[in-house]
Amino acid sequence: MRIAFHGAAKNVTGSCHLVECRGKQILIDCGLYQGNREIDEENRNDFGFDPAKIDYLLLTHGHLDHCGRIPLLTRRGFRGTVITTSATRELARLVMLDSARIQEEEAGYRNYKASKRRNRGEGAEPLYNTLDALNSMDAFVDITRFEERHELCPGISTTFYDAGHILGSACILLELEEAGRTQRLLFSGDLGYDGRAILPDPALPPQADAVIMESTYGDRLHKRLEPSIEELYQAINTTIDRGGNVLIPSFALERTQEILYYLREGIEQHKLPRSLQVFLDSPMAISATQIFRRHRECFDEETWAVISAGRDPFELPGLRMTRDTSESIALKQVRGAVIIAGSGMCTGGRIRHHLRHNLWRREASVVFVGYAAGGTLARQIIDGATEVRIFQEMVEVNAEIYTIGGFSAHADQGELLKWHGRTGSPARTFLVHGETAAMEVLAGRLADTRVEMPELHQSFEL
Ligand code: ZN
Repeated sequence: MRIAFHGAAKNVTGSCHLVECRGKQILIDCGLYQGNREIDEENRNDFGFDPAKIDYLLLTHGHLDHCGRIPLLTRRGFRGTVITTSATRELARLVMLDSARIQEEEAGYRNYKASKRRNRGEGAEPLYNTLDALNSMDAFVDITRFEERHELCPGISTTFYDAGHILGSACILLELEEAGRTQRLLFSGDLGYDGRAILPDPALPPQADAVIMESTYGDRLHKRLEPSIEELYQAINTTIDRGGNVLIPSFALERTQEILYYLREGIEQHKLPRSLQVFLDSPMAISATQIFRRHRECFDEETWAVISAGRDPFELPGLRMTRDTSESIALKQVRGAVIIAGSGMCTGGRIRHHLRHNLWRREASVVFVGYAAGGTLARQIIDGATEVRIFQEMVEVNAEIYTIGGFSAHADQGELLKWHGRTGSPARTFLVHGETAAMEVLAGRLADTRVEMPELHQSFEL
């Protein structure tokens, strides 16, 4: 029995772990590396194993850094089965198709630039294309219920537990029997925490011999959620009152649906005007919202109560979903509205057009509700730039800027420790999906377990 770490090793992206037992090879996640150009290059490297020899891929959730290399795996010979929840299957399809489109566009752009330079030798190839993403969907099989044991083959079984991170997200238990020994491996995937909107709290984890745990926020505690929601309402009311637009750069999955959920609650509780105009201006976020509507089985009791009362958790009286480009362009004329658009870090997507038309207006505001990596347009604005470059044009920053930090989808240090404490006394704990500094702080807080911080491609005998 062995485990090897082929991604998210001292890094937060590219999750990919390989378990070998009884001659079978089982992958847990196969995510894309994301970040700067150097990190992106890692996607083109060898996986560190032969994709054709993988029997099963167990997928924790539909975020790009967990499912984004599945089309590449397929392209390089994977013919096994992908096992996940049905909500994750649908979200992963959306995310992989969007990623394939971006890969194709980027390769096309590089080739166009090369042809302009008459350097015809370049021939940039996308990492994978739309067909690879569609082909990989054929391998997906649904897990129908959480906390139900599935035998993959004699001596190897798996159980999924609700992780409370995004729709359909799971922690995955692998039970392995080899040469009379049984080992229980528990993969946290990405962990949510108690009390979030839409999703139930993370399930009580099972007892395990070894735990493979994320550590994104292993060194910090989050702001509380309730004051953040109030701050969102206050930002909207103040801006609308003076006739400005509120721009919310948002991630298409989960964060956008949470924001819609809070806006609906705000209107119902008379904290926001009933006449509030809201535009959801992101085709991907619109599709993701439809997937949420189809997967009520993933909702918490509060969200079910909304449905039982005959209401849609994501519907607002003044909500318009603008899928077509022409509708998006027409938003230039809108005043006194909330515009939710991607991308969350303002590195691409329609939000850049809205920033160009609103950032210089004193009456407007921009509300950041998610993480912004260094070097991104979002980060420049948050850090107080007085002007920023958008589409080759310098735009003054006169709008009011809000950074609301309480909407994280990840457990913080306290919540990670609480979850780990419920897994019994695992002999070993492997920390993944975190920067080294965050892992080291978390490792220092974990008692009664041998903590490992694997290097990329490092493997361990179990
Ligand atoms: Zn995630």
